[in-house]
Amino acid sequence: MISSVKTKAQQIFEGLGVAPGIGFGHAHIRDHGALEIVEYFVPDDKIKDEIQRFEDALALSIQQLEQLKSKSKELPDAAAEELGFMLDANIHMLRGSRLVRGVETYIQNHALNAEASVQNVLNEIVDGFKALKDTYIASRQSDIQQVAQRILRNLNNTAPPSLNDLDQNTVVIADELTPADTALMHPDKVCGFCTTLGGPESHTAIMARALGIPAVLGINHILGEISNGDPLIIDGDEGKVIVNPSPKTREIFEERAQSNKATLAELHHLRDRQAITKDGVKVNLQANVELPIEVDLVNKNGGEGIGLLRSEFMYMNRDDLPTEEDQCQVFTNMVKAMNGRPITIRTLDIGGEKTAKSLIEDFGDSICSPLGMRGIRLSLNRPDILETQYRAILRASAHGPIRILLPMVTSVDDIRQARRILHSVATRMRKDGIELPDYLPPLGAMIEVPGAALAADSLAQVCEFFAIGSNDLTMYTLATDRADEAVAHLYEPLHPAVLRLIQFTTQAARKNNIPVSICGEIAGNPKYTGLLVGLGLRDLSMGASSIPWIKDRILNMSEGVEQKRADTIMEESDNSRIEMHLKTP
Ligand code: PEP
Ligand code: MG
Repeated sequence: MISSVKTKAQQIFEGLGVAPGIGFGHAHIRDHGALEIVEYFVPDDKIKDEIQRFEDALALSIQQLEQLKSKSKELPDAAAEELGFMLDANIHMLRGSRLVRGVETYIQNHALNAEASVQNVLNEIVDGFKALKDTYIASRQSDIQQVAQRILRNLNNTAPPSLNDLDQNTVVIADELTPADTALMHPDKVCGFCTTLGGPESHTAIMARALGIPAVLGINHILGEISNGDPLIIDGDEGKVIVNPSPKTREIFEERAQSNKATLAELHHLRDRQAITKDGVKVNLQANVELPIEVDLVNKNGGEGIGLLRSEFMYMNRDDLPTEEDQCQVFTNMVKAMNGRPITIRTLDIGGEKTAKSLIEDFGDSICSPLGMRGIRLSLNRPDILETQYRAILRASAHGPIRILLPMVTSVDDIRQARRILHSVATRMRKDGIELPDYLPPLGAMIEVPGAALAADSLAQVCEFFAIGSNDLTMYTLATDRADEAVAHLYEPLHPAVLRLIQFTTQAARKNNIPVSICGEIAGNPKYTGLLVGLGLRDLSMGASSIPWIKDRILNMSEGVEQKRADTIMEESDNSRIEMHLKTP
């Protein structure tokens, strides 16, 4: 007898590719982790309370979906409409479907706890659907299951399962992932992720690029169409997710992945070569690091140091603050791994999209606002946090060259206060007999707020170095949220206003003889390399995997030509003409 295995049809979903690469794996739907349902009887006099508990979980589920819906409005029109339609259907279900009515009656009639009642009613509904043998109705099953899962999680008060323990070749599919979620993904296990929400310059996207995990954001309705374990291909270069790929599609993508691998292998020959232009100008290429596991990649790609260590990762995914010892260990290990090459540690830049449970209570909504309690503002408001970081950094500085970088600086006073605290911490440590190097690490400022860029000449007199943060500088200059896909088309680092601020900052640093680097995402994109070198920048810091591409670009350019091109570009007032100059050979 010949048995036929029914294969599911291939489906292609398109979104925004934010981290390059091709991944072949299986779907892991974030909200679909198995929940353990405990069953128990509820005494008669507590049945009313149990129904109330169920209703509270329902109300919370509706609130969560409403929030998701209001965020989804920021998506491009068609996507917002489609996702909104699906969320409306789910909200409608929560407001009075057979599931909801059935659970209340079930609790009442069987005196069973709410979780078990939800599960039993869900099973009855799903069995009924199966009996109908109608493919449309059968497909609605997954909607009801999703809704029931949300209620169960809210009843149990459980967050979705952690992402740090996934099987190999997993592609994570979710509504939204925070930078903290992404930090838990191990690149050896997770070969891609795709979400409905999120912008290309969000920290989630930056983290994906840093970890080398292909990522596609802004894909709607995938959650309703895919099942856990479905085979898929994620294409972070072109922003596609192919579910149940056909053998032909698989073959095409395997060929592409193979050819990408070959190109990368060729670039790796450049590892030990310096980045020097054809006319002899040396450019220093360092790496941005968000997680300790990236340090290997920095070494593998020939990074000349760590130009930006985002220390936030130590504050994420935990309920308390990291201790001096915790931080000292991490910093010391990194300094040792860099083996004499410098490392620039940025003090805590929690705020905006990056939050930490341990700080939300103190600062409330202000910590979530990009204009609120972010970066150095938070550290000066909680000097205990800054002092702990300084102590850890100073102890680690005994093992190799370190610089200290302050985020979100807006005024000379920020630097003065931060320096005063640094000196008093060092004095106390020395008094306690802790040996510190004779010279304290240089203290520098991120220039990522237009006000700081325009005041760069005064800041240069109180700082020992600058690092230009073009991600936030673009966001604040153009009043365009970097994490919001709806305004992604307005987020333009080539806007003349942004370029003028970069130029002014670079010139102010040079006039005052302090080093200046750039560590925003444009530093790791070959499209901008000529312009940055032409504007006078000689230190670029980027995701470690970008280093070979940028080196290749520098080896093939002439600084003299790029300087002339930059002069022409700085005369332009129109983004599209600037783009045109960049494309001219
Ligand atoms: C920047 O703003 O350009 C930057 C490098 O910092 P972050 O991306 O961490 O905000
Ligand atoms: Mg920034």
